[in-house]
Amino acid sequence: MIEVKNLTKSYGPTLAVNQVSFDAHAGEVVGFIGPNGAGKTTTMRILTCYLTADAGSATVAGYDVVENAIDVRKNVGYLPESAPLYADMGVVDYLKFMTEIREIPKSQRKERLRTVVDICGLEGVIQKDIGELSKGYRQRVGLAQSLIHDPPILILDEPTSGLDPSQTIEIRNLIKDIGKEKLVLFSTHILPEVAATCDRILIISQGEIVANGTHDDLISQIRSEDKLHVTIQGSEEAITPKLQELDGITQVSCVSSDNGVVKYELTTSQEGYYAAGDVYNVVVKNEWVLVELRQESVDLEQVFLHFTTGETSNITPAREVMRVENSTEEE
Ligand code: ADP
Repeated sequence: MIEVKNLTKSYGPTLAVNQVSFDAHAGEVVGFIGPNGAGKTTTMRILTCYLTADAGSATVAGYDVVENAIDVRKNVGYLPESAPLYADMGVVDYLKFMTEIREIPKSQRKERLRTVVDICGLEGVIQKDIGELSKGYRQRVGLAQSLIHDPPILILDEPTSGLDPSQTIEIRNLIKDIGKEKLVLFSTHILPEVAATCDRILIISQGEIVANGTHDDLISQIRSEDKLHVTIQGSEEAITPKLQELDGITQVSCVSSDNGVVKYELTTSQEGYYAAGDVYNVVVKNEWVLVELRQESVDLEQVFLHFTTGETSNITPAREVMRVENSTEEE
């Protein structure tokens, strides 16, 4: 539905978008994230025919953004970062005006208007002027105008920027609902929003796509191994060899041992939750007391830092740990 190949755009000496390629399909909600100035808005403007690229190509709904700009616009709903709303126009008048601009046949205008008012929850404010609305409701009106011609593709630039947490959740849920049927590409810098809303994530940094995948894909790309944090009441001499015997554990590191409470960091060769089961069983079998058993998690913030700055400091804790080999050669 969207196919982008080697898209490149400079503003004078600033290379804003550099050889960007990706595709996106119907029924997907794709989150487009990156630091400020990474090239998100520029890419979205090219896809919605508001800017032309210097090089590369993009097709949207099968139409080339340069050759078939009118067809692209018919198939896309676009919510720019600051939606061009007319403050002194009534909500209903504005949306009626949009049905005319979008050349929706007269016989269908009422029906489309009713549908977008319903989807975007605008019933209560339909008689008000846009200027009287809160930022959250103005954003809903912006979304309603992007949906008015029932396009199969929605491109939303920072749709939740400036909203309070409850408004953000409402818009996020709206995007999720819309994304069940349509392709939604939206940019944001709010990472939990991406994790909660998107089927796929594109990360752009300094004009280049640096990561493309599902939330889980991206996490597994930066996590080479799983870590378990375990705290057990018992004797270190007794516990350590039993943990070393476990098949799924490649490294047993004792972090501290105080008053009969031993803390370990375990590296696992298999998915952490399988190894956690083995650790639990060995604790029960030996009648020790399990104080804590936790799988180290990698979150989207770490993924973002890794791909946009190369930092991974939180993924592998820089802590001096004692490596206890599985073999007994040292003795
Ligand atoms: P994002 O949306 O990720 O914040 P943008 O696409 O707005 O990024 O900007 C990408 C780069 O292009 C930035 O360095 C920005 O300063 C520059 N840029 C954007 N628009 C213009 C413009 N109209 N004129 C000159 N430089 C621009």
